This record gives sequence, structure tokens and C-alpha cells, in this order.
Amino acid sequence: MTSTPASAPLLRLSGLNHSYGSVQALHGIDLDIAENEFFALLGPSGCGKSTLLRAIAGFETPTEGEILLDGAPLTRLPAHRRPVNMMFQSYALFPHLSVEKNVAYGLEAEGLAKAEVRRRVGEVLETIGLTGFAKRRPGQLSGGQRQRVALARAIVKRPRLLLLDEPLSALDRKVRSEMQLELKRLQHEVGMTFVVVTHDQEEAMSMADRVAVLNAGRLEQVDTPVGLYSAPRSRFVADFIGSANMLDGTAVAGGIQLNSGLVLAVDHGLSAGIAATAVIRPEDVLLAAPGAGTLDGTVVDTFFLGGTSTVAIQVSGVPKPFICTMRAVQVPERGAEVGLIVDPARTVAVADDRDAAPAAQEPVSA
Ligand code: ADP
Ligand code: MG
Repeated sequence: MTSTPASAPLLRLSGLNHSYGSVQALHGIDLDIAENEFFALLGPSGCGKSTLLRAIAGFETPTEGEILLDGAPLTRLPAHRRPVNMMFQSYALFPHLSVEKNVAYGLEAEGLAKAEVRRRVGEVLETIGLTGFAKRRPGQLSGGQRQRVALARAIVKRPRLLLLDEPLSALDRKVRSEMQLELKRLQHEVGMTFVVVTHDQEEAMSMADRVAVLNAGRLEQVDTPVGLYSAPRSRFVADFIGSANMLDGTAVAGGIQLNSGLVLAVDHGLSAGIAATAVIRPEDVLLAAPGAGTLDGTVVDTFFLGGTSTVAIQVSGVPKPFICTMRAVQVPERGAEVGLIVDPARTVAVADDRDAAPAAQEPVSA
């Protein structure tokens, strides 16, 4: 779709479709992932992330399409013969085995010599910083430490590709952000390609080199975190990544015409007359005196958040309050009339395809 790596990809997904009975979970997925990339599959619950990961792992055979690793077809290879490993949640550790035995398990099952197993387990425990915990059992570790053991168990077999399905979802917020940094460091250190599934956009954005955004089984956009944020290609991506002011209207030459008749200037390649949305990030708006900006509004709320303040402004004809963040302690009071200066160069126009969007996914827990 976009920014495909220049070198031959490590993994290529081509025309993947997958159905569970009458539910089509994946629609025509084409995706390249490069060697040593930290890649994230991001999207709301039920959008097909796990199905895609399971197809790569070999736990699910796609209804149609091809999966290539280093140019060779994987699609019909059983899971245990693929040079691909899946990291499971830490509760899948053997509770009665020590940390080192848990990590050694897969290598022993492969019939590796004892000395070689010991050497590799020692190496991996050192990499993840658990050398001193080798003799403990999982029950004697914290949640974050158990997660590291699960990770050690997955990387000790040196797969070409490591797949992680919502790896941090069981951890509390603080441990989680530590583990995000840790995963990134580790990926760099072991020089392995990681594909992580998450429904948390902050998690995907903070860890991954590139992110594929999935919506109802379709790839919406594949891009760097910066690309997704600053140049979303669809209304869904603009809305899902970060926070954005979305002003709906109609594409006209040179801008988007809002329902009030006002034209917000923005360069776009959309056909005139189609439903379109102007996307403006909260930090890209400046406040001015009433009448001195592009739009006028009334302050309905203000939030002081320490380093920044957020001001919510009701703009006539726009259903949701316009959100504006600024690095200032002095912000206008509730009820104040203000002007909003919108920079055309920092406005993005996307087609408003909500009418054409497929039916909402059924709610699925995680
Ligand atoms: P995600 O991981 O993004 O939450 P999934 O890949 O688990 O999404 O699911 C995608 C869609 O396929 C959902 O509509 C889900 O209900 C459906 N689905 C997933 N697994 C099965 C299955 N084993 N049988 C039937 N439907 C399934
Ligand atoms: Mg899932």
C-alpha cells in the first residue's frame, strides 16, 4: 500500500482473504515486512489482527492468498516447521518449572545437546536481565518479570520472525510502559523481526518502526508512526490515531466546504463534490481575537494539564467542540468568544467514507 521497504521483504502477504463460515475476517491483505523491522498490527477489537497473526504463524490457513518468507511460500507449511515463533501470555508458563527450565523447554524438545541448551538459556536470561532469577518459579516473580520469561522462551529458539499478540495487555499501566521500552531495546539487541498486535494506538506508535492500521479486515494504511499521525489517508486512521478535530463537509476546489458554507483551505486530491473531512490536530490551532481567525467559537471548557492546557471551543455548525492544546498557563475563560487560526499547511483532507463503511464489527472482548 505505502512505503514498502526497498530491499526484498522478509515476509510478504499477498491477497490474503480469510473467512470463518459467513464471517469474512480478512479482505485482500497485501503487506511486506522487512528484516529487522519492529512492525505493529493495529486496529480495534474484532478487526482481524489475531487472525492475520495466526495465519502467519500457521495456526490458521487463509481461505485465499499467499504468505512468503524470504521469497519461499509458507502457506502450506505446518506451524511447527515455520521459522516463526509466537510469544504467548505469561500465564502459559509452566508453573512447576524454574525460569531456566521454562526457557530451556523448547530447545530440549528439539533435542539440542545439554551444554548448548545451558549456554543459550544463560545468554537469553542475561539479555532480558533475569540471570539472578534462573532458579525461581513463575509464581515467585512479578508480572513484568513473568512477561520477560515468556519472551525469553520465544526468542531462545532464534526464529526469523517473532509474533506477539497483545503481549502487554495483562500488565498494569506503569509496568506496561516499561515493557514497551524493554521490548524495543530487546528487538534491537537480538536483531529479530517483531510483529506485534495491539489495539492500543499509543503502544503501537511508541514501539513500532511501521504500523499497519486494520479496520474491519482491511488494511487502511501502512506507514511510520509519524506518517500515520501527520498524513492520515482515511477518516478512520485520522480518528483512530491520536486526537483530531474532524470537520465534515464537501470537497471543493482548494478546500473543504463546511455545512456553514465556509471553505477551509487545504490542498487535496479529492474529487469535487464528494463528502470529505478536514482533519486538524489540537496542537495545530492558534487562538486569536474573535473575527481574526479562520473560524469563530465560544470556549466551553478548559483543562490545565501541567505542561499544556486544553481548550474546548464550540464552533457553530460543528457538532463536537473543537479541541485546541497549547503550551500556556493563561488560557481564555469559559464563555469567552475566540477566533481560531487554522493553518492550511497543517490541515489534512480525507474522504468521508462512513456511508460506504462496512457494518460495525460485533463487540469482541480484547
Ligand atoms: P482481533 O484480534 O482484531 O480482535 P480477530 O482476528 O480475533 O480480531 O477476529 C476477527 C473477526 O473474526 C471477528 O469478527 C471475530 O469474531 C471473528 N473470529 C475470530 N476467530 C473466529 C473463530 N475461530 N470462529 C469464528 N469467528 C471468528
Ligand atoms: Mg485479537
